[in-house]
Amino acid sequence: MIGQPEVEKALLHQLDTPVRFGERVASIHEDDDGVTVTTEAGRTTRAKYAIGADGARSSVRQGLGIGFQGTKPEMIWAVLDAFLDTDFPVCSEIITFQLNGQSRVSWIPRERGMSRFYVLLDGDVTQEKAEASIREHLAPHRVDFVRTEWFSTFEVRERIASAFVTKEGKGRIVLAGDAAHVHSVNGGQGLNTGIADAFGLIWRLALACRWQEKGAGGADPGGVVSTYDLERRTVAQDVINVAARLVRDTMHTAKQYVATIEKNAGYITGMGVAYSEIGSRLIVDSERGIWKAGRRCPDLTLASRRLADDQQQQWQRQLRLYSLARYGRFLILAIGGASNDLHAFQRFRHAADILTLASAAEVGAVGGGQDDSDGSCPTTYASDLVAPEDSFHVLVRPDMYIGYVGDAEGVVEYLLNLFP
Ligand SMILES: Cc1cc2nc3c(=O)[nH]c(=O)nc-3n(C[C@H](O)[C@H](O)[C@H](O)COP(=O)(O)OP(=O)(O)OC[C@H]3O[C@@H](n4cnc5c(N)ncnc54)[C@H](O)[C@@H]3O)c2cc1C
Repeated sequence: MIGQPEVEKALLHQLDTPVRFGERVASIHEDDDGVTVTTEAGRTTRAKYAIGADGARSSVRQGLGIGFQGTKPEMIWAVLDAFLDTDFPVCSEIITFQLNGQSRVSWIPRERGMSRFYVLLDGDVTQEKAEASIREHLAPHRVDFVRTEWFSTFEVRERIASAFVTKEGKGRIVLAGDAAHVHSVNGGQGLNTGIADAFGLIWRLALACRWQEKGAGGADPGGVVSTYDLERRTVAQDVINVAARLVRDTMHTAKQYVATIEKNAGYITGMGVAYSEIGSRLIVDSERGIWKAGRRCPDLTLASRRLADDQQQQWQRQLRLYSLARYGRFLILAIGGASNDLHAFQRFRHAADILTLASAAEVGAVGGGQDDSDGSCPTTYASDLVAPEDSFHVLVRPDMYIGYVGDAEGVVEYLLNLFP
């Protein structure tokens, strides 16, 4: 419910790279060793890789001749952000209104007490028609538009780039965000999918740069950049399909529309997006219980251990697994009894963190005794979701997707492919 300008401001705040607004890219050229980008201000930048995240009309994509195919369902929506005076019982959730068997108006509460409306109209799409439609849908309640801060229209387009990485996945120019995929706003997945592209891409580029610094040739020496193309293009197509179903369901009852949202909640929230069974070489088909390669690592609630004043171990402080993860690094989880094999991973300490997850039911039996939070040895936590008999490893990628579940040899083999 937080407006995109607020999200962008917060993200910009985190960047330590200067952003030059209003400076358009005039040309982009790729050769064997890198990419050269020239702007309309005459500035030239040379880099190992370039990311074309220049929106739906991406000149980078067009300049490279990458196709952008799809459908246009001939639906034009009005969008408005307004402050209302109404006797409608306002709530803090999205409401879809049904009238004459269709669901053409959605009301989304925004920051500052503002309301966002999406209104599907026929013929000319104007602010007056949108406001009249909202009044009709909310009747018999009274609605006065005190101040409309923003009004716009958008035509639904469902398109996907034919490649997200140049040279059939082996090039140096990568597309992300709306430059790579566009769809209807239903489900609110556009910016979210773009951010997930970035989250899935940057660690791969960092890994590829590392290989090149060590003397490896080619744009994708470890074969990781091409997996971005495969994984994110598959997900983008699924997101487009979900948004397409949703936008067409606005022509049906609200019950049907909401049922489609509920059915696809995993995709809409991003929590259910998975890379299993699509042939990515960074996903080794394997699973144990709640752990499955290709799925997001579960964000378990953990209890950490410390020495109490009387030197007895205590399990205390609840925290979430994700709060321990550091972006850019792999995470090796030694589940239950598997904590005996950890010496095998010492050679990967520069790239991977190691955590031991013990069964909360067996806490008393977990030995060790030392406070191991200084990083000299793996840190141990307890979880209700670890069973006393569990004994295996889970390798979690920097984007928090599980790459492998199994024995220590399998983890070593996986990491040796990336860090020989
Ligand atoms: C009405 C509406 C509601 C939406 N609601 C949601 C929502 O609730 N949730 C959600 O997740 N998404 C939502 N979206 C989608 C979301 O806005 C987009 O998916 C998102 O902005 C895409 O981000 P992007 O950075 O890929 O592209 P953009 O936001 O389009 O940014 C591209 C940038 O590249 C710049 N640029 C373009 N060409 C050049 C060039 N040649 N040189 C240099 N710079 C260039 C542009 O100026 C722009 O700053 C909504 C979209 C609309 C229209």
